Amino acid sequence: MTTHHPDLSTLMSYSAGSLADAIATVVAAHLSVCSHCRQQVQEAELIGISLLEELEPAPMSDRAKDDILALLDDTEQAPVNSRQEQNIPDDADVPAPFRPLLGYYLDDLHWRYMAPGLKQFVLPASGSSNLRLLKIAPGTCMPSHGHTGSELTMVLRGSYSDELGRFCAGDVADLDPDVQHQPVADTGEDCICLIATDAPLRFNGLVPRLLQPFFQL
Ligand SMILES: [Zn+2]
Repeated sequence: MTTHHPDLSTLMSYSAGSLADAIATVVAAHLSVCSHCRQQVQEAELIGISLLEELEPAPMSDRAKDDILALLDDTEQAPVNSRQEQNIPDDADVPAPFRPLLGYYLDDLHWRYMAPGLKQFVLPASGSSNLRLLKIAPGTCMPSHGHTGSELTMVLRGSYSDELGRFCAGDVADLDPDVQHQPVADTGEDCICLIATDAPLRFNGLVPRLLQPFFQL
């Protein structure tokens, strides 16, 4: 049961394909567990299509036509994944869009130590974006920080609380650059989050600022 969802503007940008790759993959992970947001994206897509239908058609060069047909040919070869997806273990806890890359279980990942109570697993991301999994030990307090860009976080296991509320598995925190927060993992179990940022974080304390280059945050 998710209570925190991405902003409507984020879902609209997702349906228009205009989000940074890292942010879009977190949205995709949330959509794989949230029918409410899938519905919103579907509606946004319908709005996009009706807008397209109102545009005056423009002539297309033969070269552009060939490119589009080649792209469609490539897309038709995609269903390999759906065959793999048929053998999904019931207790798989890696979000569906990441399974081809990470496998099925978060516990099987090669977690790297960052600081006491904090481990990370860095995922490939393009441009200035950052995509990572954080594993936060129960009760661990993250350094207070702001953002120079957007941050989209999805909780995969456990829960954390900050100035904005309590976030449990499936919830998404969709943070604007002006939000300052200090997440604290709830007690009981590790909190594992999937986090995408499209610009470096802005730490308030001196020590986190000094350590930032080593954490690659
Ligand atoms: Zn949702």
